[in-house]
Amino acid sequence: MIHSVGLIGDPIGRSLSPAMHNAAFACHGLADRYELWPTAAHALRDRILRLRTMKMRGANVTIPHKSAVLSLLDAIDPIAQAVGAVNTIVRRDDGQLGGSNTDVAGFLRALALTGYTPRESSAVVLGAGGAARAVCYGLLASGIESLTVINRTPERAEALLADLLATTAAEPHLLALGAAEPLVPQAIADADLLVNATSVGSDGSRLPLAPEHVPAHALVVDLIYRPTPLLRLAAQRGARTQDGLEMLVQQGALSFEAWTGLDAPVEIMRAAARQALEEQV
Ligand code: NAP
Repeated sequence: MIHSVGLIGDPIGRSLSPAMHNAAFACHGLADRYELWPTAAHALRDRILRLRTMKMRGANVTIPHKSAVLSLLDAIDPIAQAVGAVNTIVRRDDGQLGGSNTDVAGFLRALALTGYTPRESSAVVLGAGGAARAVCYGLLASGIESLTVINRTPERAEALLADLLATTAAEPHLLALGAAEPLVPQAIADADLLVNATSVGSDGSRLPLAPEHVPAHALVVDLIYRPTPLLRLAAQRGARTQDGLEMLVQQGALSFEAWTGLDAPVEIMRAAARQALEEQV
């Protein structure tokens, strides 16, 4: 029987996930297909109903449905509940749907590949959307000592930290800032990790912070899949950098394992995602 898995979101036409997961299915000799299921907000409930009633393994969920989907599922794992976002749905044989968030562990696995350890470190996260929530949850759960969230809309940064603080017993130093506040330059200068979790730079031309504040000594991670102006400038200044492709691969590997119970062929998934990205350029 051919099972199917799909990506629920809107827009999703440029997703690398079909290439990555179809390579993994083929590697295991499975006939499954990973499909794109573009879904507008008004159609989300029906999409989830179809997932429940048809014999599918599950789905990924992306912008703009990661939070809205929580109320449509039967069980949410504690990390997805704390982050307030589901990116992976697993369908059980009885049709029950479970939601989890593999962005958190995907980010931490990608970060670990750089050799960076969050414990007793100081991080700045740019952005306060769904990706920033996953990143901040992961850093807090890993014992970060100081975390500053900088966002164009400061209220969202404040809400993010307030929500996540309720999920941890640790007492890190936390600060929420608007992008134009005077404390921003010092916070960035003091950080040993800078993560861009905004979408600024995905057009290949814009920086998410003033050029003079791009650090020279921190690890600079951009969640955008391809090299961005931020990563290029940071590397020119001597900083270590990582783009978002590795996080994409690692979260995808965890989703694949949740759907199939099989080990994810990570190198094959990485190569397929990279090739699909190059074909887009
Ligand atoms: P989101 O929930 O829509 O959040 C977008 C964030 O970007 C918000 O903080 C928003 O600020 C900020 N932003 C957008 N346009 C801006 C602008 N012109 N100037 C300043 N700030 C701006 O999106 P998301 O899901 O968090 O995704 C954010 C990025 O992470 C995207 O590029 C996405 O592709 C990437 N991502 C990568 C992975 C991966 O596996 N590598 C996983 C998830 C996401 P406001 O709050 O002020 O609107």
